[in-house]
Amino acid sequence: DLVASNPNIEVCFEPEVAHGDGDIAVKKSGCHGFCEMGPLMKIEPQDILYTKVQLEDCEDIFYRTIEKGELIPHLLFKQNGTECKKQEDIAFYKKQNRNVLKNCGRIDAENIEEFLAIGGYRGLARALFDMTKEEVIEEISESGLRGRGGAGFPTGKKWSQVARQKEEKRYVVCNGDEGDPGAFMDRSVMEGDPHKMIEGMIIAAYAVSADEGYIYVRAEYPLAIERLKNAIAEAEEYGLLGDNILGTDFSFHLHINRGAGAFVCGEGSALTASIEGNRGMPRVKPPRTVEQGLFDKPTVLNNVETYANVPMIIARGADWFKGIGTENNAGTKAFALTGSVKNTGLIEVPMGTTLREVIYDIGGGIKDDREFKAVQIGGPSGGCLTKEHLDMKLDFDSLKKIGAMIGSGGMVVMDDHTCMVEVARFFMNFTQNESCGKCVPCREGTKRMLEILERIVAGKGTLQDLDLLEELSETITDTALCGLGKCAAQPVMSTLKFFREEYEQHVIEKK
Ligand code: SF4
Repeated sequence: DLVASNPNIEVCFEPEVAHGDGDIAVKKSGCHGFCEMGPLMKIEPQDILYTKVQLEDCEDIFYRTIEKGELIPHLLFKQNGTECKKQEDIAFYKKQNRNVLKNCGRIDAENIEEFLAIGGYRGLARALFDMTKEEVIEEISESGLRGRGGAGFPTGKKWSQVARQKEEKRYVVCNGDEGDPGAFMDRSVMEGDPHKMIEGMIIAAYAVSADEGYIYVRAEYPLAIERLKNAIAEAEEYGLLGDNILGTDFSFHLHINRGAGAFVCGEGSALTASIEGNRGMPRVKPPRTVEQGLFDKPTVLNNVETYANVPMIIARGADWFKGIGTENNAGTKAFALTGSVKNTGLIEVPMGTTLREVIYDIGGGIKDDREFKAVQIGGPSGGCLTKEHLDMKLDFDSLKKIGAMIGSGGMVVMDDHTCMVEVARFFMNFTQNESCGKCVPCREGTKRMLEILERIVAGKGTLQDLDLLEELSETITDTALCGLGKCAAQPVMSTLKFFREEYEQHVIEKK
């Protein structure tokens, strides 16, 4: 099989495959993760990984590699002068632990039989036939799984809160509205392994007795929407979704809802409002989503990566999951590694992996061998980490201690050429544009902060502006209605904390 991440390559091979003797197939896979070297092609069963494959290479690959078994040197990844034939030989993959992303780039995302052949829906079968609803929630709680979309709230706790509500109608909703600049982990799962997260949602629905669910996906992800639609239809056809799942009395119907590109719709109450057909604006809590979520009914709302972990936990047990990561931060985390790093791409590492391992061992170091300066983690709601944090463990609790957060997992690496004031201005501009305008601190405060940052970048700022930035940051953080506003000042606060002299230089030099 040829597993290619570029659909054009599949088309390019069509004549050869058609003229072959039927033992060669081209599979459309999801992202292999090693974006820097894409488009990638994997050849099975020879286990060859070709990188930077161009359409004009296809003929050579077919007649030299597939027919004669020859390797094509210029398509092999070079590491310290040595050509790597297999994916496992490449340092980018070696330090990773790809569980959630395991099938991305491996199976045909549009064929449920491939997912079933590698143990897909085994977790659902175990939940339905061997476990009570309470036992499923207990297993998820015991595993220590925490929500992968933001602050790391315990998933089992959330499910049990929904399960004990009096209302009979409950919903299960998936947040696939990945809006952080530089983040594309959820997109990769939805495009590359859609059944895994759907299976997780069905298990969640069984556990909390929900009969209806929604996947909220950004409209900017058309391929994800197409593959999710296909996966839902396939699951329905195989009796895994819909009425009387696998012959039981449990029924669950799943719908897709497209977001219209508003970052704020990643916030729980804005997301449910948007599904309801209302303007996507956050509301005051309580009541919380677990009590009154979608259509005012108790709702489990988790993100794509969280649901994708669920089938593995149910199939392999809580102890397996707890064995990965650190004590209160079990499992792995997917990160989108971008910016000034040699090997950009999508990675998945055990919680507790250090920033140094991510940037230097997996990422291959800084581009053009420049000096590492900082990494923005968690998108516009996150903060920056600097050289002093290189040996810090990447997990929910360690990051929280220094005022940063994993967020959904965007990681933008910056070298010594980067102006940190400009970075703060970029993120404030993004947040200000995305503010829904409902509450004054965020609507007006972010505007004022952006004006000050623009003034400083233009060389017209004063030292008093720095104090004003700090004061506004505190006020917005304390008084904004939702997470978008509460975290809006985070990039400014962390760059001011770690790179204050850079702000001062801007003010002084330009005078
Ligand atoms: Fe809207 Fe910002 Fe207020 Fe959130 S904090 S409700 S995004 S104005």
